[in-house]
Amino acid sequence: MRYGFVIDHRRCIGCHACTVACKEENRVPLGAFRTWVKYVERGAFPDTRRYFSVLRCNHCDAAPCVTICPTVALYRRADGIVDFDRDLCIGCKSCMQACPYDALYIDPETNTAAKCNYCAHRIEVGLEPACVIVCPEQAIIAGDLDDPGSRIARLVAREPVEVRKAEQGTRPKVFYVGADTAALTPALQTSEPTFLWAERPPDEADLVAMVARAQASEVAVDPAQARAVYDVPHAPRPWGWKVAAYLWTKSVATGALLVAAAGVLLGVAEGGTLSGVQAPLAALVFLALTSALLIVDLKRPERFLWILTRGNPTSWLVRGTWILLGFGGITTVWLVGGLRENADLLRWLALPAIVLAGAAAGYSALLFGQCEGRDFWQSPLHLPHLLAGAVVAGAATLTILRVITGFGAEPLRLVMAVGLVAHGALLAFDLFASHTNVDVARAARLVTRGPWRLRFWVGVVVVGVLVPLAIAWQGPGAAASASALALAGLWVYEDLWIRAGQAVPLS
Ligand code: SF4
Repeated sequence: MRYGFVIDHRRCIGCHACTVACKEENRVPLGAFRTWVKYVERGAFPDTRRYFSVLRCNHCDAAPCVTICPTVALYRRADGIVDFDRDLCIGCKSCMQACPYDALYIDPETNTAAKCNYCAHRIEVGLEPACVIVCPEQAIIAGDLDDPGSRIARLVAREPVEVRKAEQGTRPKVFYVGADTAALTPALQTSEPTFLWAERPPDEADLVAMVARAQASEVAVDPAQARAVYDVPHAPRPWGWKVAAYLWTKSVATGALLVAAAGVLLGVAEGGTLSGVQAPLAALVFLALTSALLIVDLKRPERFLWILTRGNPTSWLVRGTWILLGFGGITTVWLVGGLRENADLLRWLALPAIVLAGAAAGYSALLFGQCEGRDFWQSPLHLPHLLAGAVVAGAATLTILRVITGFGAEPLRLVMAVGLVAHGALLAFDLFASHTNVDVARAARLVTRGPWRLRFWVGVVVVGVLVPLAIAWQGPGAAASASALALAGLWVYEDLWIRAGQAVPLS
């Protein structure tokens, strides 16, 4: 059994009855929507046409929200419905990043994720979803796609149907009949910050205006192009500065131990005060900050331990937490070895410490890779970039510590310089090489030529890479300054990367 929907666009009159019935049936709070109708117009006067796109959760057969959910709050039932359990949700918002269709929202009353659940409570007593019952045109058809005799299965077999973003590989089960492709594809639409009779929330309006400017600078906008003329509000940026800060503090934590352990393994550091004590202390302090940022970013922070006690093994949020615990453990043992000046123990620990530090630095690439809604974050260069960032952050932090305690900057500034060159090269490939699709190209354009260009060129490239590379060689004071600038540039980069990934609208 596989429940799905057909939305017949030939019949829809855009009356919003489905939206209202859903809100009433499921007590959906003000400002949130489980299903909504977006108006998209095409053509130039007088040859124009308005399309009504009925949007909602697709109850995907390969649902990325289920894979990423760290506590199995989202799950696929045996009948194909993707349901959720608000009592298990920790409010990490990763499902909102994984869903390519903007189907989830945070319920402001419970601070947990929610979405269309096919009115599962009605299905269980033999009723149809509320939107199906209320539709005056019978434009919404629900039923079992696996039953060849059902109305929905016959429609899907007989009519040419479309799904949203088929290329995402999520195998959606909401099929559209008679839809206009551009009306279902946000990348093919232009958007305005305001509508004729509705307003967007200010932060969403700013974001839309920014993306619209970037879009207009790509090619001359065709006046007949599809344009969104009515939509409901959407969460503009589920992940903010705390997630950017988490990436940055994690780079410092993992990089400090990575560089120290590599020094011990290669025999250039003997487990003295810097590599044996200061490096693991810095790593533990920044690891504590990383954990604190992860917890305070949760909408239900009091449930954070459920990541460990009720963890979904497919989620990289869960796997990453275990890796961070392992990293914290080996860093603590390293510190004990350093305090006891046990050089043999440190030599023995060096290789596992490098492996765990690398895993802790790099697992976020796999976590962001599970955010399938955000194409900009799918770059295969993200893993090497995180490792390069950790080398830069670790070497820069240890250089500052070494200079403050009265020692020279060698050989750490050389390590930092190598990391900076790799960081710069990866930036160039990521942002200027050919992009996998128009959304990725648009996000990259926002960074390099759009409203964030000043922060990128001055903050990331000049202050964060070129100046440190130029001045790091001019004595210990300059090396420490170069290190501070490299760390600042890395922070600006992480912040831009998080912003750009969420800039392009999902629906
Ligand atoms: Fe629904 Fe989105 Fe999850 Fe697919 S990924 S099942 S559309 S919430």
